[in-house]
Amino acid sequence: MSVPSKARAVVIGGGVSGCSVAYHLAKAGWTDVVLLERRKLTSGTTWHAAGLIGQLRGSANMTRLAKYSADLYRGLEAETGVATGMRQVGSISVALTAERHEELLRQATVARIFDVEVHEISPSEVKSRYPHLNIEGVVGAVALPLDGQCDPANIAMALAKGARMRGAQIFEMTRVSRVTTANGRVTGVDYETAEGPGHIEADIVVNCGGMWGRDLAAQNGVTLPLHACEHFYLVTEPIEGLGELPVLRVPDECAYYKQDAGKMMLGAFEPKAKPWGMDGIRPDFEFDTLPEDWEHFMPILEMATHRMPLFQTAGIHTFFNGPESFTPDDRYYLGEAPELKGYWIAAGYNSIGIVSSGGAGQALAHWITEGEPPFDLWEVDIRRAQPFQKNRRYLKERVSETLGLLYADHFPYRQMATARGVRRSPIHEHLKARGAVFGEVAGWERANWFANPGQEREYRYSWKRQNWFDNQRAEHMAVRTGAGLFDMTSFGKIRVEGRDACRFLNRICSAQVDVPEGRIVYTMFLNDRGGIEADLTVTRLSETAFLAVVPGATLQRNLAWMRARVGEDFAVITDVTAAESVLCLMGPKSREVLSRVSPNDFGNAAHPFGMAKEIEIGMGLARAHRVTYVGELGWELYIPTDQTAHVFETLMEAAPELKLCGLHTLDSCRIEKAYRHWGHDITDEDHVLEAGLGFTVSRKKPAFIGREAVLRKEQQGLDRRMVQFRLKDPEPLLFHNEAIVRDGRIVGPVTSGNYGHFLGGAIGMGYVPAKGQTDDDILSSRYEIEVAGRRHEAIASLVPMHDPNSERIKA
Ligand SMILES: Cc1cc2nc3c(=O)[nH]c(=O)nc-3n(C[C@H](O)[C@H](O)[C@H](O)COP(=O)(O)OP(=O)(O)OC[C@H]3O[C@@H](n4cnc5c(N)ncnc54)[C@H](O)[C@@H]3O)c2cc1C
Repeated sequence: MSVPSKARAVVIGGGVSGCSVAYHLAKAGWTDVVLLERRKLTSGTTWHAAGLIGQLRGSANMTRLAKYSADLYRGLEAETGVATGMRQVGSISVALTAERHEELLRQATVARIFDVEVHEISPSEVKSRYPHLNIEGVVGAVALPLDGQCDPANIAMALAKGARMRGAQIFEMTRVSRVTTANGRVTGVDYETAEGPGHIEADIVVNCGGMWGRDLAAQNGVTLPLHACEHFYLVTEPIEGLGELPVLRVPDECAYYKQDAGKMMLGAFEPKAKPWGMDGIRPDFEFDTLPEDWEHFMPILEMATHRMPLFQTAGIHTFFNGPESFTPDDRYYLGEAPELKGYWIAAGYNSIGIVSSGGAGQALAHWITEGEPPFDLWEVDIRRAQPFQKNRRYLKERVSETLGLLYADHFPYRQMATARGVRRSPIHEHLKARGAVFGEVAGWERANWFANPGQEREYRYSWKRQNWFDNQRAEHMAVRTGAGLFDMTSFGKIRVEGRDACRFLNRICSAQVDVPEGRIVYTMFLNDRGGIEADLTVTRLSETAFLAVVPGATLQRNLAWMRARVGEDFAVITDVTAAESVLCLMGPKSREVLSRVSPNDFGNAAHPFGMAKEIEIGMGLARAHRVTYVGELGWELYIPTDQTAHVFETLMEAAPELKLCGLHTLDSCRIEKAYRHWGHDITDEDHVLEAGLGFTVSRKKPAFIGREAVLRKEQQGLDRRMVQFRLKDPEPLLFHNEAIVRDGRIVGPVTSGNYGHFLGGAIGMGYVPAKGQTDDDILSSRYEIEVAGRRHEAIASLVPMHDPNSERIKA
């Protein structure tokens, strides 16, 4: 069989990822698919994986994908005739601390939302199921009877066979030397074989190149930030009487255990990993292993010997060390690269590529063939990657941390410790001097909370109230009763300018943006299903210039969405994020504070809500946008970067009582007002009307993306509604992914949560079924929120619990 000269899609890489993508593309009917592998199938990372198939994941949609993989792999052998070694031996995860126990119970709640069978078990039950385990210090555990283990290489081989059975063609010893492009889109691949070079013409290329993926992508200017790390396990000699055992995870000791063919495997997720491949990867790398490193492994082995005493006498058969790719946030990458049309990615699996690839391959194939993902995949979307993250020094430093984080406590608000400080606001040092404790998003250092003088400036993580809870309360109450100042310089700022800028924006925005100069419009970008691709404000700066303001984390995604749709319209789309800083002055006293530093008139008549105006401030200039994300009177000040420190100093001097506030307070304030948070409460799978954001949709504009889906939904009625909840008991906390229980039955996850310091209890948002139901039907139900297995009574509301009529904002 010779390599064809043309294909509908070319998949690069024959590891489990590439095989799954090819399998699912073929299954979706794209039989004209070619997979190219530079050496042998599975010869990169896949062949040496441990083969754990665990469904317990931290978030709702990742659980959904892992469950899909487990279900798929169970039937693969019957379907293809390839023995996959897939056995549902079940799994047990044990907690050695109360905090870990809480995390496991919370994850179990997420699993239950998606019908993954999960049981809470006691230490003695653990012992009866796993007699070899020393249960000293075990606080609790969860068991998943349908989890399994498999032979990873054969899972990939079975997927490859399944792909071939449906018409896909697979070629080994065929290295893609270059993805070819023309006019901003993929045109095919150049490849090399022993017989010589060749070319395949194709509109779609999928980079499944594992740890090679970053450099391959870089050839085309595509950002794929990943870096290999050494990853270890050891396997004992056969041990008599081991018996059939479930997979066991002891995350507090960074270890997992797997029984296979009478031997015991011990795998490690050590806190400080060893990055690998800094000088590139040898061209002849194939089924390679890396050198043993006993010194590095010893701390894990010592704990294991105590936990599993059979290691004291068992002989070691294999010390295995192999490379795997890790990403800056421990999440893999799926989707179309924003830089290049037709360039798709499924790579960077952070040591869970076997369990993830089934679901990821299915999701990506759906995305490619249907033009949209099957559900919200923002967590793993390639468009979250920042261009600077290609930097190899950054990657090397960061991945030394991310490997270990797989088994670290996944506390809420947990911050990365390495590779920090890359993107900073001009007043970073000012904030630091005033007690700021920073978090990081998209590389930006952002003040998350402000420590009091003398207070420790570190996070003390917990599932209960963390050490900054009272600081947040003080900031929150200042915003509600006085004035607070937030540095939101990390906002993504996109200037859209040109003759057709208005027409273009009106085509992609749900709201009418053909408004008078200075007007700020809150709008959505909708997709054809009425799902929310972005929520943003668009400010008309002049007849032909607009400023779109988006969250810092979604900037690349939003830019890509706009650039892909500008078509023939004459409009230039420019990322101007670094040109202006944003200081948000919020609270009932904000008008008075602003008047101390500016001669402009901030009264309702001169500067009404929803308007942006240039103002004098101190000795500089700013544009004051009268909008709010905290539900109070306030102004967002857009200040040229060079004048920001001056404006900040002027404000602090004139109003020493002004409370500096962090991002945690921004979030706790916004949730009281039930403002939706994109990525949590609203995503591309959430219909704008069901999200309760119909007021952002113009009924008069004759055409815009998503209009028909809105009209359809209006006729058909809503299937679900976004509801705001407050727990009656002021003690428990909500973060997200707790379960909403309606009349005794779990109906979905809490999409976001925080503490309502003004309302006096934890607040959560989430969707409830609403087909054919009135407001009264919805509100007359009995609601509880399940937190780590315990249910708490909740009050539900369809209107914001804080300032329902927005009187405070318009004051
Ligand atoms: C020690 C260890 C234990 C693990 N245990 C588990 C586990 O228990 N469960 C789990 O889910 N995961 C586990 N993993 C992770 C898992 O093995 C990986 O996430 C997964 O194999 C990654 O698959 P991939 O297809 O992305 O990469 P790879 O398997 O590396 O495949 C990429 C392929 O692309 C090919 N390629 C690269 N460039 C080109 C090119 N230019 N042209 C053609 N081909 C190219 C390569 O040759 C390679 O075969 C483990 C990993 C390690 C190292």
